[in-house]
Amino acid sequence: DTIGANLDRTAARVGDHEALVECATGRRFTYPQLVAEVDACALGLAALGVRKGDRVGIWAPNCAEWVFVQYGTAKLGAILVNINPAYRTHELAFVLEQAGISVLISAPEFKTSDYRAMVGEVRDDCPDLTTTIFLGDPAWDALLAAGRAGDPGTLPDDLDPDDPINIQYTSGTTGFPKGATLTHHNLLNNGFFVGEGCGYTEADRVCIPVPYYHCFGMGMGNLGATSHGATMVIPAPGFDPAATLRAVQDERCTSLYGVPTMFIAELGLPDFASYDLSSLRTGIMAGSPCPVEVMKRVVSEMGMTEVTICYGMTETSPVSTQTSADDSLDRRTATVGRVHPHLEIKIVDPTTGQVVPRGETGEFCTRGYSVMRGYWNEPAKTAEVLDPARWMHTGDLATMDDEGYVNIVGRIKDMVIRGGENVYPREVEEFLYTHPDVVDAQVIGVPDAKYGEELMAWVRLRPDASPLTAESLRAYCTGKLAHFKIPRYVKIVESFPMTVTGKIRKVEMRETAVTELG
Ligand code: ATP
Ligand code: MG
Repeated sequence: DTIGANLDRTAARVGDHEALVECATGRRFTYPQLVAEVDACALGLAALGVRKGDRVGIWAPNCAEWVFVQYGTAKLGAILVNINPAYRTHELAFVLEQAGISVLISAPEFKTSDYRAMVGEVRDDCPDLTTTIFLGDPAWDALLAAGRAGDPGTLPDDLDPDDPINIQYTSGTTGFPKGATLTHHNLLNNGFFVGEGCGYTEADRVCIPVPYYHCFGMGMGNLGATSHGATMVIPAPGFDPAATLRAVQDERCTSLYGVPTMFIAELGLPDFASYDLSSLRTGIMAGSPCPVEVMKRVVSEMGMTEVTICYGMTETSPVSTQTSADDSLDRRTATVGRVHPHLEIKIVDPTTGQVVPRGETGEFCTRGYSVMRGYWNEPAKTAEVLDPARWMHTGDLATMDDEGYVNIVGRIKDMVIRGGENVYPREVEEFLYTHPDVVDAQVIGVPDAKYGEELMAWVRLRPDASPLTAESLRAYCTGKLAHFKIPRYVKIVESFPMTVTGKIRKVEMRETAVTELG
């Protein structure tokens, strides 16, 4: 199926059911109203000359228009390029040029960013870019008006589900983002199975505070909802913990998404207890290691009794494994679940490529419908991760137990080798979370003359915590963790360097640490 055909079919099935709510403005769209906006957007873009395979960039925070453009470009077979809301001129110019974007749809501004000014600065250096339209400007209204006057019967009917429709940049956690080229099949099927994993029906209302620019929002969120006739709820343009909980309460959401840092922020709101979250049933935590302590609080304090953990990456549309509501609480909090339907996974020794025995650590690899075509215009980088048999090598270290439950141990790039011992930061972080004063803990390796690398922990404390010293935290570890896993350095911080997707940038932490340690 194509994404557009799937949306039309849902609309035909569910009738006047609510499809989309934008809380910031109170705008609401039923499925037929959404289809009308999507068709207007598709026909409006066609009137501008956009054809199948052309690249259309979108640079905007979460809003209803993002959804129109996502489905509208898919109906044309055009390739949507998601541009990170945090980009500045240098990165913007890079993406515009690398993806060969001809039409850019942009918000005029977001938070402290003046997108209009930044686009103005780079325009002349991007010869492919023929049209820029700012949301809310008369040009955007004109595009929709032209589209409304058009005939949906003229939209292309020769789209192939295996056509690329999206260039999706990775989060940039470990370096410069890479543009994964994804098809209708990749994204739609993955969204469908994620929705199935959450047990979605038309009765579900999915709160999406994760950015649309990432597949967590536009894939697992939007496509997960629309492929099951559920309702998409946008709590705010950018992540705002209070607005998120208010949206859950006021819109009676049944499902809530987030990376761990978002759930930590919501649970930490001073007025957390005053929100009525009784409508929540399920949701997804994903994107980075999900601390067991946080998962437990999400179940018990937010009432998300059927919450699932997903593991995956942009390059695999994104989900490869998911926990199920039927799993024991232990498995649901401490593993990333089992392989998704219609996919293959294996855990291999990264040097020999041989499958490792169950329970042993190796690189997580996956193959199947979800795997990207490749990185856009980067055959060399593609060949580094996709082998000739089309196995995607994720760069993540994992174990699999006898029943197929996967545990993510950490990224190969984050593993610390201290005096010949492999230390997985994740394990040390999980332990630090058990300290009653710790809200968030991140562990990195820093260069050390004697041991090659030493461990450093950055720790964020509860606001009401009694002052905690590095020494007392090290003492807390003594006797409970092997000596080589106890962080030599402990730094108390207010926040961590983060990506827009809410992931902690350990590369940046390492850079800072190296400078500070001299
Ligand atoms: P980049 O590839 O640009 O460095 P990134 O890998 O963070 O950034 P994404 O594709 O957004 O970009 O994230 C995928 C990665 O996130 C996975 O490879 C994995 O390391 C991590 N991840 C995702 N889900 C989980 C999870 N449930 N548990 C642990 N790690 C996860
Ligand atoms: Mg990655």
